[in-house]
Amino acid sequence: MIQLYIPLNFLGVLYREIKQSLTDLDKMFTLMEREREVADKPGAQPLTGQEHPAVRFEHVTFGYEPARVILHDLSFEVPAGKTVAVVGPSGSGKSTLARLLFRFYDVQQGRITIAGQDIREVTQASVRRSIGIVPQDTVLFNDTIEYNIAYGRAGASRAEVEAAARAARIHDFIESTPRGYQTMVGERGLKLSGGEKQRVAIARTLLKDPPILIFDEATSALDSANERAIQAELRSAAQNKTALVIAHRLSTVVDAHEILVMDGGRIIERGTHLQLLARGGRYAAMWALQQKES
Ligand code: ATP
Repeated sequence: MIQLYIPLNFLGVLYREIKQSLTDLDKMFTLMEREREVADKPGAQPLTGQEHPAVRFEHVTFGYEPARVILHDLSFEVPAGKTVAVVGPSGSGKSTLARLLFRFYDVQQGRITIAGQDIREVTQASVRRSIGIVPQDTVLFNDTIEYNIAYGRAGASRAEVEAAARAARIHDFIESTPRGYQTMVGERGLKLSGGEKQRVAIARTLLKDPPILIFDEATSALDSANERAIQAELRSAAQNKTALVIAHRLSTVVDAHEILVMDGGRIIERGTHLQLLARGGRYAAMWALQQKES
């Protein structure tokens, strides 16, 4: 029996490893698919001075297809260590800003700079190393919770993974699962709620500790306790970082250095929360509506 068990067990491990590599490969191909859109310039050097970088969009015009312009002559700055929030209706171009900053695509006109350098002039790898994204819907691998968090930084120790999980306030939840950090998650493991997945993504990003943060708030409704918790975690994750927050709930943006209100690929209003309320325009109307709803 033991003779049979060993090869079967081995096959099981092999199967799991192949499956895992396939999941990773899948993800890699998706990324490569996008990477074909942009390429490093010959001789491109890594980004420099990105410890406390400002991010600037200067007269950016962009469309996924030449015939359809999505962003029209957009300019704004996220000063070093500050948070700028973007709000606006679905399809107004908010996530496109994040994709351009991560350089999934190149702009057609204008430029995007990090620490004063045009992101087309430096290596993609260095741009992506300096940015952490907390996406709307986090991809979890069919592996342990530990692996899924450690994915933020290759070679992270267990203690570092735990520290990140504590900061993202998901440690207690992990400890309550059947096998703690060794609990399998993903399609064939423990299913996590939208809020829990976003916390895993925040923990990953904290572990990566990039100077620039992009947070794409989940559109799916979280219960209000969960929502408040995520917002608190986000605030701590964004401390001292240059952060671009794509927000669906205005309560997330109240403290932002500047709020950009987008519509149809244009910034139609901008200012702090109080300035925009005083203006009595679109933002003030959105705020009044959300207050009524909650
Ligand atoms: P939401 O709040 O729903 O996430 P959004 O403001 O983030 O919306 P974007 O995702 O930036 O909007 O999309 C802006 C426009 O670009 C939309 O009209 C969308 O259809 C279009 N678009 C987005 N991705 C692509 C793509 N890969 N190819 C072509 N068009 C796209």
